[in-house]
Amino acid sequence: MLRFGDDVQASDREFIQSAASWTQRYWGQPAGSVTVYAYTTLDALLYAFTQDCACPSQLSTYLTLFRSELAFPGHFTTTAQGAMLVWVYSEGWRQSDRMTGGAYDRLRHLTHTQFHSIQRALGIGRTDPPWIAEGSAEYSMARVMAANGRMNFQAERASIASEVASMTTKLSDLEERTFQAPVRAPYALGFLAAEYLASKYGEQSILTYWRSLGAILKPRYDRGDYAAVGAWQEAFGQAFGLPVAEFYRQFEMYRAGGFVLR
Ligand SMILES: [Zn+2]
Repeated sequence: MLRFGDDVQASDREFIQSAASWTQRYWGQPAGSVTVYAYTTLDALLYAFTQDCACPSQLSTYLTLFRSELAFPGHFTTTAQGAMLVWVYSEGWRQSDRMTGGAYDRLRHLTHTQFHSIQRALGIGRTDPPWIAEGSAEYSMARVMAANGRMNFQAERASIASEVASMTTKLSDLEERTFQAPVRAPYALGFLAAEYLASKYGEQSILTYWRSLGAILKPRYDRGDYAAVGAWQEAFGQAFGLPVAEFYRQFEMYRAGGFVLR
């Protein structure tokens, strides 16, 4: 479901619609349905969304999100329900026009955020480590962009691998949101980890992880347990069939070998 404000121009509707349908088409039915709200004022955006979800108490949460760094460059964010909110023509939207590549950067951000919507719709909550959350969103962005002729996947991968070459951070250092490492670390190392998992266990195993996480968390949330201790590790084991610690060991070996996929 896509809902637009009347004053969103046709070309921008088409742009948002394309990004949403590309991500959906790439991952297929298991990704669930896409819900996007695109409006030109924050008031209209939050009004439309809260009317549908009947959650006015969350209004201040999303206002804060949009004003914080959590909302990727200030014009996209995802809700706990997995809907994507796009603040069209906002400062962040206009800024991304001024970046090198203009609409290209916005398309990167849009497809990246689209995968966060899928994560949240399937996995509920945000209890997952930054390397999985950001890494799989970056991986999805690159696959989706490449599938639609907007990116050379191998060139993107090579640039990320060279970025990682100067990092000493380990994947296991990126489990907490308060990680001590370069800000790009969960995106770059996480991208390579997601690609490695997808190539070893199949593309859909990434979605299986998020679905397993949702299935583990739902009964806990229903009984008011939001601590989610051990949930993502359990989901990881279900989706990929090995403990996280073993994966970290394998990944660092793969890294030492120069990220050569077999
Ligand atoms: Zn992100």
